[in-house]
Amino acid sequence: MSADRSSAARRAAATVVDPELRVLTIEDLGVLRDVTEDAATGRVTVTITPTYTGCPAMDVIRADLRAALAAAGHPDAEVVTVFAPAWSTDWISGAGRAKLAAAGIAPPGPAGGRPVPVTLGVRCPHCGAADTQQVSRFGSTACKSLWRCRACREPFDHLRAF
Ligand SMILES: [Zn+2]
Repeated sequence: MSADRSSAARRAAATVVDPELRVLTIEDLGVLRDVTEDAATGRVTVTITPTYTGCPAMDVIRADLRAALAAAGHPDAEVVTVFAPAWSTDWISGAGRAKLAAAGIAPPGPAGGRPVPVTLGVRCPHCGAADTQQVSRFGSTACKSLWRCRACREPFDHLRAF
């Protein structure tokens, strides 16, 4: 395996953004699991784990991955979807969480474990106040819920933890 070509393929795959959360790459999200290159054939295989089945974004991500890898010299790249272990919002990187906050989307709290009361669990990404309320279970996309801050009155999207 050529390390250089492999990392070039990895870099190309890592540039693909999530169609729903355009501020995040699939690497930020933890959706990009692995990029390997077959030593004999040079064929690149990209492994991804979908966020959740309600997100039609995965088809777009697969197409964008193939396009990005074709542009990087791998027109025959294969995209493999792996469902186990299941993706969780815990896989979003620290850089990804910072980008979400900068974009005005409240980053998800830890999934699983001890449940946090929703009224205490979501901070306003605009002013940081904890005094927020859920306005709608569905935000601008199926993956987000709509919240409003009682302190600054600004609405914001919250990426659902699951
Ligand atoms: Zn606020």
